[in-house]
Order: sequence, then structure tokens, then C-alpha cells
Amino acid sequence: MNVETIKTGKCPVCGSNEVYDNREKNPIGYRGFISVSAMYSFNIEAFVCLNCGYFKEFIKDADLKNEKIKDKIKEKWNKTDRANIG
Ligand SMILES: [Zn+2]
Repeated sequence: MNVETIKTGKCPVCGSNEVYDNREKNPIGYRGFISVSAMYSFNIEAFVCLNCGYFKEFIKDADLKNEKIKDKIKEKWNKTDRANIG
């Protein structure tokens, strides 16, 4: 599947290449992670298009492959589906 994503360095909204990310950076004040439980959290990486302002956050790939973190999310968070909206 070929999903349009800002991760390629090209903005999926305006097509600009003025895309920056904070991977391997740790900006002061930026929430670099989200706690899932007392023991587990996942790291966030952010992407921004400086042309149109499109902004997107992702869980780091390494955390997406971490089954313990994913199990905790499945345990603690709601499964999102249409029936739960509103
Ligand atoms: Zn853009």
C-alpha cells in the first residue's frame, strides 16, 4: 500500500519539500513521549511543513514494534471505531 505520508519529506497537503522533523532531537518543552502506564511510554516524533503548517505526530517505529507497549495501549485505551464517536 502506498500511503501518502509526510514521513517521505514531501508534504501530503501542499506538495512542498519544506518538511522538517524532530527525530533525534529533544526540543525544550516538547512532549517527547506519552505515558501508557507506570512502566511503559511511547516516544513521539513530530513532522511539520513550513509551507502550509501541516503538522503530524507519530509513535516512533521502534515503539510500534514493541509488543509490550502495544499490549498496554490495547489494555488501557479505547479501541476507536465509528460506534464510539460521540
Ligand atoms: Zn504543506
